Amino acid sequence: MLNNKGRVTQPPEGAPQADATLSIQSQSHSGHKGLLMDEPLLFEIGSVEKTGVDFPGISDEEAGEESKLLAGLYRDEEIGLPGLSEPEAVRHYVRLSQKNYAIDSGFYPLGSCTMKHNPRLNEKMARLPGFLDIHPLQPQSTVSGALALMEELSHWLVELTGMDSIALSPKAGAHGELCGMMAIKAALEAANSERNIVLVPESAHGTNPATAALLGFKVASIPADKDGTVRASAVQDAIEKNGAETIAAIMLTNPNTCGLFEREIKEIADAVHEAGGYFYCDGANFNAIMGRVRPGDLGVDAMHFNLHKTFSTPHGGGGPGSGPVVLSKRLTPFAPVPFLKRDGDALTLVEDADETNKAFGRLTAFHGQMGMYVRALSYILSHGLDGLAAASGDAVLNANYIRTKLKDLLNQPFGDQACMHEVLFDESSLSGTGVTTLDLAKRLIDEGFHPMTIYFPLVAKGAMLIEPTESESTESIDLFIHTMRALISEAHAGEEERFHQAPIHTPLRRLDETGAARKPVLKWVEEA
Ligand SMILES: *Cc1c(COP(=O)(O)O)cnc(C)c1O
Repeated sequence: MLNNKGRVTQPPEGAPQADATLSIQSQSHSGHKGLLMDEPLLFEIGSVEKTGVDFPGISDEEAGEESKLLAGLYRDEEIGLPGLSEPEAVRHYVRLSQKNYAIDSGFYPLGSCTMKHNPRLNEKMARLPGFLDIHPLQPQSTVSGALALMEELSHWLVELTGMDSIALSPKAGAHGELCGMMAIKAALEAANSERNIVLVPESAHGTNPATAALLGFKVASIPADKDGTVRASAVQDAIEKNGAETIAAIMLTNPNTCGLFEREIKEIADAVHEAGGYFYCDGANFNAIMGRVRPGDLGVDAMHFNLHKTFSTPHGGGGPGSGPVVLSKRLTPFAPVPFLKRDGDALTLVEDADETNKAFGRLTAFHGQMGMYVRALSYILSHGLDGLAAASGDAVLNANYIRTKLKDLLNQPFGDQACMHEVLFDESSLSGTGVTTLDLAKRLIDEGFHPMTIYFPLVAKGAMLIEPTESESTESIDLFIHTMRALISEAHAGEEERFHQAPIHTPLRRLDETGAARKPVLKWVEEA
């Protein structure tokens, strides 16, 4: 039986054996579904009395105050940890892990996030003892191999982008944006500049304007043209409207979040540079152009990579990401510490800035995500430059394959044009069916697919952003296309109710996402 939190509870004494309210589709007597178990919190399964580990108690009067210390911390009440046997603890975590849909479970076309396969070779490399068993506090002379690996990765990333230098340490794309924009801010401050406006196209990822605002810049939005890309003339207009002397930078994503290549990027870079500003490129979509286009050639001053997107390192549960930033020559002096410095045969990690560089400080403890550097370099070396170019080509081909197979049923908001690594549809062709983008996404879950990105970018109404990546087979993409076509036909056949019910095959149905975001329950409290 399920309580109001959807958790299994014991039937009250004298209750009938079967729950008369069970409907075939939605529930089971045990609370489990098939072989997928409902999983309460550890605190709800274990009881304090049934203990797996014995901690010294605190009630021992004779032992005195000393006995209240545990690992140097003072206790004035019992710690109250749930006691569990080893199999109970193991099952708890295995069941939780089974609830986590992953790229290793199936198709995961989450646009903009580039959920590509994480090659097992990468994992093998990251587990080599020389990389796995080292510690950031070891003397540098004992980790020269790790530093050499960081240098080689840096070399590749700088070469692939045609930039001058790199800051490896940022730990996510958004963190990389912060790093690049802090370097730009430091460069402006070094020139005693009061420039305070950052131009951001309206299709941008939310982290772009958030980063600019966090650093005290004012954000000026630039509209997209009807083809979904930014016109250099719109940038020029914004520069003139605000005054060239106020422009600190532009933050532009290329390919943009509509999956389209910004063709006027060079003219846009020139306009911003002429005004005296810097060009930050959000490189989250570098997977579409790696090995083919060098952002440095297009006038970019700073750009982050998401190693967990383009270079196939795992996304994890919100981490461990890695977001190195490449910088142009004029921003190089402002790169944060630490950075690598080579002097003949000697390679050192510079931890403190001196007079020769104007580092704005440090973004992370130590040097960043070493394990991700190993995996990214493994991906790069196992592909080679030609392989990387083939991968970006396949990513674009796969997205266009889906586009051409669905475009008779779904509308492309910016017209029938080729896309890059992801294809954007809106929900206009579903109008009148009673089925929304959200409903379609929930139905996909019942069909065993992680839904595409929905309602982003905001410039498309009811957006569906589909990114298959290069690592999917034709068969898996065909099954997705087949499913999408079948679902859309059902929507047009008046089966809207089935959509509103979805998902029905999941442990939990539709959740109150707004409630969860607005009033998160972050602490377990024992029920009275
Ligand atoms: C993913 C993404 C980001 C943020 O990157 P994180 O690694 O998630 O912090 C920024 N911009 C775009 C366009 C993205 O797709």
